[in-house]
Amino acid sequence: MSIQSVRLVLFVTLLSFTTNSCIVKDPVTGKKTVTLVSEAQEQQMGDSYNPQVLAEFGVYDDAKMQAFIEREGKAMGRISHRPQINYQFKIVDSPVVNAFAVPGGYVYFTRGIMAHFNNEAEFAGVLGHEIGHITARHSAKQQSKQQLAQGLLITGSLMSETIRQYGQAASQTLGLLFMKFSRDNESQSDELGVEYSTAVGYDSHEMANFFQTISRLSSASGQSVPDFMSTHPNPDNRFTRVHQLSDNIQTKIGDKSKLKVNRKSYLQMIEGLVYGEDPRQGFVENWMFYHPDLKFQFPVPTNWKYQNSPSQFVMQSEDGKGAILMSAGSGNSLQEVKTAMINQYKLTEQSSKNLNINGLTALEFTALQIPEQKEGQAAQPSSKLLVTLIDYNGLIYKLMGISLFSFQ
Ligand SMILES: [Zn+2]
Repeated sequence: MSIQSVRLVLFVTLLSFTTNSCIVKDPVTGKKTVTLVSEAQEQQMGDSYNPQVLAEFGVYDDAKMQAFIEREGKAMGRISHRPQINYQFKIVDSPVVNAFAVPGGYVYFTRGIMAHFNNEAEFAGVLGHEIGHITARHSAKQQSKQQLAQGLLITGSLMSETIRQYGQAASQTLGLLFMKFSRDNESQSDELGVEYSTAVGYDSHEMANFFQTISRLSSASGQSVPDFMSTHPNPDNRFTRVHQLSDNIQTKIGDKSKLKVNRKSYLQMIEGLVYGEDPRQGFVENWMFYHPDLKFQFPVPTNWKYQNSPSQFVMQSEDGKGAILMSAGSGNSLQEVKTAMINQYKLTEQSSKNLNINGLTALEFTALQIPEQKEGQAAQPSSKLLVTLIDYNGLIYKLMGISLFSFQ
């Protein structure tokens, strides 16, 4: 290629790049930076993710803890680099130890992580770290790289590629829990965690101490703990660094003894917090799935693998060729839900009939999905579905039996 044409290509690339992007001032560093995501788009992203996150995990039912995170979070948002953002804070009902932030100002802490803080100052450090991801626009930068949606799905660990597609769309949001930022982003957020938590009056040395909890959790579970606890930079390095950053920032403060730790009030607040899996969201005992809150049960075939989340229950045969998914959602009518499924999964309907199950209106249909076979690629198995939709108590319950097969 001649130099001329290289120049031309470069110019065209640059041109098409700049038409979709804009140059903004980084709110934290003040440096000029290229972004593909505007502040309004960040807000839109957050507004569309938020209901999915809340539907997937559920909001943890404790008014005083929700009021606490809201109060502390808003106060910190006001002193942050982007005080104009309408920050929203929620404790979600998940036993996983994590905290995560979504563009547009949405910050979530799991009840699992709330159970592991020893005092308010540790909490405030992590809060500052998450707000830091928003103020430094890390998610927006990730989105610019098209990485936001590429999180690891929890369902992915269980289901085969073909069956996974039938999982709840909301499961995509689980990827957020496992979203990885770069090492630089994490370091910058640690720095902002120190800065923000100090600015609202907490001793950020406590934030450093929380990395020891993370270290213990990682070694106890034998696997890395996701997100805030992302293993890079490693918790031991972060421990040392955050102590140093705290020393630095605290030399600028006149009376260090005024910095808060608030151990007693924190431990009083979390008294009675649900710890570990919550049996009210369903559990399996002797190959029977029980949902005490929704008051139903059904058998799980012996030796099948299963996984429960607030929005769906999935079970899969040992050979991975069959699965049953159970979920509940909204919809105007059974017919409408059926049509939506047929379009979404590109199904060919084989049969359909209206049923009455224990006095409830139901619809049952069978369908095939035959994926397009692409040349030079491994053959995708086809799937056969038996779907039962039941209208009950304002929700549409969906039972989906899936079996995989290949044409010989
Ligand atoms: Zn982080």
